Amino acid sequence: MTSQTSRAVVISKPGGPEVLELRQQEVGEPGAGEVRVRHAVCGLNYIDVYQRTGLYPLEMPHALGMEASGTVEAVGDGVTHLAVGDRVAYAAMPPGAYCDVRVMPAAQVCPLPDALSFEEGAAIMLQGMTVEYLFHRTYPIAKGEKVLFHAAAGGVGLLACQWAKSEGIELIGTASTDEKCELARAHGAAHVINYRTENFVERVSEITNGKGVDVVMDGVGKDTFDASLDCLKPLGIMMSFGNASGPVPPVSLLTLAAKGSLKVARTTLFTYTADPERCQDMARHVLGKVVSGDVKVKIGQRFPLEQVADAHRALEARETIGSTVLTL
Ligand code: NDP
Repeated sequence: MTSQTSRAVVISKPGGPEVLELRQQEVGEPGAGEVRVRHAVCGLNYIDVYQRTGLYPLEMPHALGMEASGTVEAVGDGVTHLAVGDRVAYAAMPPGAYCDVRVMPAAQVCPLPDALSFEEGAAIMLQGMTVEYLFHRTYPIAKGEKVLFHAAAGGVGLLACQWAKSEGIELIGTASTDEKCELARAHGAAHVINYRTENFVERVSEITNGKGVDVVMDGVGKDTFDASLDCLKPLGIMMSFGNASGPVPPVSLLTLAAKGSLKVARTTLFTYTADPERCQDMARHVLGKVVSGDVKVKIGQRFPLEQVADAHRALEARETIGSTVLTL
């Protein structure tokens, strides 16, 4: 077989959910270092929104989607860690995972243990590897340290709550409703704060007896960044990793000095996974946490691929909890 067609979600200009178009595209044979993967399930992530709106610019037209699970259908020269028929999952550049079948670089495609369903695989790779590097690679967080985690009932959030608990880290989770707060607590958050109705700086101070937290993990961005610096202990670290409420404006280094020699890291998963060995190592760590039962994958919503625009609307309207998948 030389080529086949696949449904794929493509944008030809940045914009609202209405720019998402379902098209047919040709899929060929994998070249050296590539595999062809037939997807079972695709994952939905907030980065897909940033790419759709143009906050993270893409060349146009461009297919969207960063994560999926499925089965290897063909393997190009030089690929040694995968074989035809393997169950796999991935979170990888370039975007284009919202489709039935695609050819892509093999380095970031990871074997999926039999213990995980395709849905779990598609839901956990991107958000799980993010939690993995935030807890272990940006700054290795020690047992007993305290972390403030914003949007704790979201996809990354519910995984972070469970990860923290399993590592003996005290996580304070924020969320915008009492229901979301309870969900975060049920997933392992030691404390929860409804940041719509409570002042989270005051609450963090109460919870930590005025000492502050060692680490803030902030994927909300503009609305939470400044106040989050006031939640840190001297020498604490702010891990800014997202902009769900908008991008963080420029920060003065003098502010960091004045607030107690604070550190700020602005990280992105794909720097960590660019190294193939590190990527496979991170994936094994995350999938191992699911196999061991330390972490459960919470799929809060499922949308058929044809309804991808509704999935984006729900995510942006803060209507989702946990992870969201697109079914094929
Ligand atoms: P979530 O499921 O966490 O959804 C985003 C959540 O952000 C919402 O549910 C909402 O929770 C909160 N939020 C606060 N303000 C707003 C707002 N104005 N509009 C929309 N949502 C808002 O998404 P993901 O788990 O996919 O991602 C979480 C964050 O992590 C995102 O910013 C994402 O880009 C980032 N990320 C970064 C990575 C990296 O390596 N840099 C990798 C993976 C994710 P609530 O209602 O409780 O406030």
